[in-house]
Amino acid sequence: MADPTASEALSRLAHRFRAALGERAVISDPVELATYSCDGLTHYTATPGLVVLPETTEQVQEVVRGCAELGVPYVARGSGTGLSGGALPRADGVLVVTTRMRRIIEIDIPNQRAVVEPGVINLEVTRAAAPHGFYYAPDPSSQQVCSIGGNVAENSGGAHCLKYGFTVHHVLGLEIVTPDGEVVWLGGKTPDSPGYDLAGVFVGSEGTLGIVTKIVVRLLRAPQVVRTLLAGFRSTDEAGGAVSAIIGAGVVPAAIEMMDALAIEAAEASVHCDYPRGAGAVLIVELDGPSADVAQQFAEVERHCREHGAFEVRVAADDVERAEIWKGRKSAFAAVGRISPDYLVQDGVIPRTALPEVLRDIAELSARSGVRVANVFHAGDGNLHPLVLFDESVPGQGERAEEVSGAILDLCIRHGGSITGEHGVGVDKAKFMPRMFTSEDLDTMQLVRCAFDPAGICNPGKVFPTPRLCGEVPGKRKGVHPLVEAGRAELF
Ligand SMILES: Cc1cc2nc3c(=O)[nH]c(=O)nc-3n(C[C@H](O)[C@H](O)[C@H](O)COP(=O)(O)OP(=O)(O)OC[C@H]3O[C@@H](n4cnc5c(N)ncnc54)[C@H](O)[C@@H]3O)c2cc1C
Repeated sequence: MADPTASEALSRLAHRFRAALGERAVISDPVELATYSCDGLTHYTATPGLVVLPETTEQVQEVVRGCAELGVPYVARGSGTGLSGGALPRADGVLVVTTRMRRIIEIDIPNQRAVVEPGVINLEVTRAAAPHGFYYAPDPSSQQVCSIGGNVAENSGGAHCLKYGFTVHHVLGLEIVTPDGEVVWLGGKTPDSPGYDLAGVFVGSEGTLGIVTKIVVRLLRAPQVVRTLLAGFRSTDEAGGAVSAIIGAGVVPAAIEMMDALAIEAAEASVHCDYPRGAGAVLIVELDGPSADVAQQFAEVERHCREHGAFEVRVAADDVERAEIWKGRKSAFAAVGRISPDYLVQDGVIPRTALPEVLRDIAELSARSGVRVANVFHAGDGNLHPLVLFDESVPGQGERAEEVSGAILDLCIRHGGSITGEHGVGVDKAKFMPRMFTSEDLDTMQLVRCAFDPAGICNPGKVFPTPRLCGEVPGKRKGVHPLVEAGRAELF
């Protein structure tokens, strides 16, 4: 519940925003507000104090200026599909929803780029470029619903990021509204800009550095051919071995996805994908490019799969069969609902050569704790998505699932990986940050944040475990920051 001072500030803002943006751009009805109380991580909820739906950069600027003047925190939200609680609102703050900023401003084929607003749905960019023979490469599994603004904030990846890279590799420039209400461009329409790569800093900053209002993205020419195979293995060990062999041979597939037995079971129950019977793991491998290269590399991939124990290899003959192969993988997260009432989607990265060992460790952890874990993930880049299954109605199961989830992240760190691959830190993993970073590391990151947001009102409480600096309530660290003391940085 917002305190009286906060609620007074919110009602002043509601009045101001209605006058400036129009009645339909502001939501203050408690029932309507409740529909924005979480993102894709439904575990955490908070009803926002106020929701605004701007349609232009100027309107975003007006909202940010209003919040800055009254010191009211705000959170940007795209489609709300994030899986780390990054768009979790605040009861004492404003939720700035970009769903009405949905214009594709420019498709510029000679320069291979598009300019879009943040609320544009990822797949819409490809749809707009497709008639010209081009597409937008980063393809989160949520691409039919997630927004480009959300992708920028999360530095989203997807099945094809193994070959084509993450969002950061496809963003040329960003127009942002800074937390003090300025409109600035980071990067631009050309591939390289002088000075620090601030667009690179902004991508993946999880809505903590400002609100992006326009995005210049690269478009790629659609490949000449795409070939996809599905390989069934007896175990995740064998499948992991095949992944390392394929990449080790110098082949870079567009995608290599793995699902283990439990994930296959869920997908079968949901979409009847007819994956190889008795498989302990399946790999989906996709190659794209010029037809001669693809033909030669495809034969190599098939050989590595068989040499590492694939007992069945299916090759898609056309686009329909290709879609059939992908059906099980694309529906896997939702499909898990068929075999478990509740689940946590975890996201961690490991070096791909550690796949077999880490999957074995996860299986052991699961056996020891009695918590089932289904694995479905981007094997090519070592980006794991363990789905930790539980039943909220059984006392203690939710907590046990959380423990297992945390233990999996520890495994990732132990194997030289990271606590998040593509879903961000958000509110969910903030507590895990000190397992990867020292206090000094975190403080240094905060200094970057302070440079954008000295007042600490732009998506506060996310990413960092303990609020420090930037006018936030001091947490663990007391006294002068070591970098300031050493004369190497200045606080604002
Ligand atoms: C079924 C499913 C599959 C998924 N698969 C993938 C996957 O393969 N790869 C992947 O990377 N992710 C995946 N995700 C996670 C999610 O879709 C991505 O993180 C996506 O980028 C979130 O976009 P969104 O528009 O929903 O953002 P939101 O959830 O609304 O917001 C996410 C973050 O972005 C910030 N933000 C939103 N808009 C702006 C803006 N205009 N300016 C500044 N900050 C902003 C928010 O504050 C928040 O911190 C999946 C999610 C689901 C539910």
